[in-house]
Amino acid sequence: MNKTIFHIDVNSAFLSWSAVEELNKAKREGRTAVDLRTVPSIVGGDVKKRRGIVTAASIPAKKLGIRTAQPVTDAFRLCPELIIVKSDFGLYRARSAELMELLCGYSQILQKMSIDECYLDVTDPVSKMAETHRDTDVRMAAIKLAHEIKGQVHDQLGFTVNIGISSNKVLAKMASDFEKPDKVHTLYPDEIQEKMWPLPVGHLYMAGKASARKLESLGILTIGDLAQSDPVMLESHLKSHGRTLWEYARGRAGDVVRTDRWKAKSESVERTLPRDCIDLADAFQELSKLCRELSGRLYNHSFRACEIAVLIKYADFTSASHQRQLITATREAAEMEAEARTLFEELWDGRPVRLLGVRAGKLVTEGEPVQMSLADFAKERAAYSKKQKADNAMKQIRGRFGQDVIYRGDET
Ligand SMILES: [Mg+2]
Repeated sequence: MNKTIFHIDVNSAFLSWSAVEELNKAKREGRTAVDLRTVPSIVGGDVKKRRGIVTAASIPAKKLGIRTAQPVTDAFRLCPELIIVKSDFGLYRARSAELMELLCGYSQILQKMSIDECYLDVTDPVSKMAETHRDTDVRMAAIKLAHEIKGQVHDQLGFTVNIGISSNKVLAKMASDFEKPDKVHTLYPDEIQEKMWPLPVGHLYMAGKASARKLESLGILTIGDLAQSDPVMLESHLKSHGRTLWEYARGRAGDVVRTDRWKAKSESVERTLPRDCIDLADAFQELSKLCRELSGRLYNHSFRACEIAVLIKYADFTSASHQRQLITATREAAEMEAEARTLFEELWDGRPVRLLGVRAGKLVTEGEPVQMSLADFAKERAAYSKKQKADNAMKQIRGRFGQDVIYRGDET
């Protein structure tokens, strides 16, 4: 199945973040302030001496020819009324963390690329949106979700982002770089001829100045020219990078959003039941399905859970949850199910249940040490290595043939 990947990029991040901070400060102090984004302004350098290098420039400043990395003195020559504010990296880190936190609410498969940009794999939420709205297909749902996220970032955090949408990372990144600010763009593989091929070759992701110069000297001026070149010829001039760029120009790139640098805190699945559940056996059956789905997700991202929680929403819309720490971190459906059953029995008060959920919390990644008590350790050690082997074999099979092709004997 094709993935849906967003590339989210804050528009003039440092400048926007400084502008929002200035506005908030003015508000607190009961005075009016100009929005730095709407006038020629820059961040960076020595504010008093008007020296140093421009770290960020507002769009009105850019229109006057002021550029990032330019000496501040040159910028003032271009615009004597320029407003200059000093950089505040503590502030930028805080804003960045708030943004990533907000985005994690939409999907926890988030790969932070720099302080102001990240990839977000929204395959799951988007396909769910498309499923629930009959008149919406996956691409429409993706655009809808992107606008929702963009709006929420603006309303909650006060700054704008561009969101590029595609089925792989490079195309999503290229799309977010189209017209700015505050825009959503798509660039699916079937749109590259129209939207990407006419662009200068230097605009391609990873085509640095040296590569672009080399390609231009070979008569390759646009991304389209590159896509239609002979990859062997490109390799002879640019080594393996030549082929990589050729692949990108043809819209081929990876679609795995790596969460290792931004660790998810939890994964959860929940389901509104087709009819309210009043029977323990029915609830157990539902929990079993949920745990299998959850286990699949943990396998996909190489996570293990150190905590399991069960969530109940009753027919009268009140809800309750119950959680427990595990002695050994797990991603086994059967183990999570056993825990979920106990938690459910302890939590349920017998009223009709409308929705059930299971959450895997305190996630740890593959290589991370997992804490066990000494008594457990001896007992578990023998079983563990055996199970680990089975796990790995299963993971390989699932990776190749899909989540549902294989379960442990004790898992069904
Ligand atoms: Mg940016």
